[in-house]
Amino acid sequence: MIKEISRQLHTVHCLFFYRRYSMSEKGRFYDDLLALTKHLVSIPSVSPTAGEINIADEIEKNIRAIPYFSQHPDYVITRTLPNDPLGRKNVFALLKGTGERQDTIVCHGHMDTVNVDDFGPLKPYAFSCSELAAHLSSTHLPNDVRHDLEDGNWLFGRGACDMKSGDAVFLILLRFLSQPENRLSGNLLFLFTCDEECENTGMVEAVPVIEELCQKFQLHPVLAVNNDYVGPLYQDDPHRYVYTGTVGKILASFYILGIETHVGRIYEGISASAIAARLIDAVDTNPGLCDEYDGEFCQPPALLKMKDLKTEYNVQTSQAAFIYFNYLIHDREVSDILEELKQIAVHELHNYLSDQEIKFQTFCRRTGEIYIPSDAVPHVYTFEELCALCRKRGMNPDSRIREIAEKDLSAGMDKRDISQHIVEILCDEAHLFGPAVILFLSPPYCPHNTLHKEIPAEDSLRQQIIEVAEKTGLEWNEKFQVRHFFPYLSDSSYVKIDDSYPSMEKTLSNFPAMDTLYPLPLQTIKKLSIPAVNMGVYGRDCHTWTERLYMPYSFNVLPELLLNTFRHFLK
Ligand SMILES: [Zn+2]
Repeated sequence: MIKEISRQLHTVHCLFFYRRYSMSEKGRFYDDLLALTKHLVSIPSVSPTAGEINIADEIEKNIRAIPYFSQHPDYVITRTLPNDPLGRKNVFALLKGTGERQDTIVCHGHMDTVNVDDFGPLKPYAFSCSELAAHLSSTHLPNDVRHDLEDGNWLFGRGACDMKSGDAVFLILLRFLSQPENRLSGNLLFLFTCDEECENTGMVEAVPVIEELCQKFQLHPVLAVNNDYVGPLYQDDPHRYVYTGTVGKILASFYILGIETHVGRIYEGISASAIAARLIDAVDTNPGLCDEYDGEFCQPPALLKMKDLKTEYNVQTSQAAFIYFNYLIHDREVSDILEELKQIAVHELHNYLSDQEIKFQTFCRRTGEIYIPSDAVPHVYTFEELCALCRKRGMNPDSRIREIAEKDLSAGMDKRDISQHIVEILCDEAHLFGPAVILFLSPPYCPHNTLHKEIPAEDSLRQQIIEVAEKTGLEWNEKFQVRHFFPYLSDSSYVKIDDSYPSMEKTLSNFPAMDTLYPLPLQTIKKLSIPAVNMGVYGRDCHTWTERLYMPYSFNVLPELLLNTFRHFLK
């Protein structure tokens, strides 16, 4: 009971305590940020669950409690995601500038978190920072975690770092900047999204709303600032990071057709699994395939799935297999990557078939069997080429693809399996026989972006961000480093896309049923092209049970870094 009353009082404190912050006081936001972060953590919003609606309601309530928004209730906008079975929503809040300027900074953060299964026996305390800390102290912990727990500067809890604290920073700054003496002449559009940890649907659905609000309120977005968490990039890393873009990713997928055979006549067949293994060897963790821009490298492709498509035990070799790779991108065109992967598939398939011939010849020599060369004709197609083959045979692949995707989706199939199923059916209907490899893209797709040094307007913007970071670093004795690519994938993918129009076309035509399985407003993103910066809260071990936030930076320095940025561009 007492706990409940104190929680209610705490909520009241968070919602309605409207204090003035002294201009000169260092750490002026700390206490309010700590209280608000703990409060937001206490509202579970695991993605994808209805808890995401509760957190959206709470954030909306928090915003509406700010006097500026009781005068301008129509500047708080919520939008339910279309066709979302849970009815989740995004929350927008517009803080208009005092002048006639259209310049606008979009500040966005996600409200959802990953689940809490990783907490094991500590699961009941995952959403209570204080109770969790108490229980952690009597738990066996890795040395660095124990050190941080006893240090007192770290806040533990699901979402403490990723990123209820980031939301709290934006909410407190929104409240602060709405006070008459702190208003800026440019505009700020705050946006709180759902579903970031799953499929980024919140941000994807927010993009057309941003465009609509820009038209309605005459806004010109100059910057999109995400404050998703940042962390050390290596042991004892002393830097704080600002990113002027984000890494992107595709799910590079291969459907492989072999020729099945009885194990008693093994050289008459070609194993789809064995071809898959060759492809995996060539692509998985291949450092030659790391993308690089301006000295920043991303991680190489990583195999996320391999399976043959046999559904039962028998003595036939595998006729079909499916593999896909997480493929991170900094600056390359998706079309170039597809071309390179196709060449790799041609090379690997060809080499595999010639190695099999050599093995068969050796076998014949040993056994005296008569060697008959294989007459198998290998094919490697992209999905776009497979569709062209279907058309040549008089089929209409587009309507067929949509039909399969909708049916499979309503049957609750995994989206990647749906992509594979589409390819499988088209291969069948086009009478394509193995050995063959089809290259295509499966969901999700996260476009990459940054500010390029070769583009003068982008480079100038980047220099200004470096200046603001350096100024803040001097004020707070922090070592800032401005890098190009936020390394962990984020909502920032959906406000700017660096791929060219021809490459976007290639992406679309090689992504089975993209409109149904992963609809992205690519044209709107390209049109908006808002430079995407990440200035985030700082912490460690996000997405694990030892997730923790470093409060001195996140609650003292980050709000001032953001204020310096807002003032630089909007004063
Ligand atoms: Zn996050």
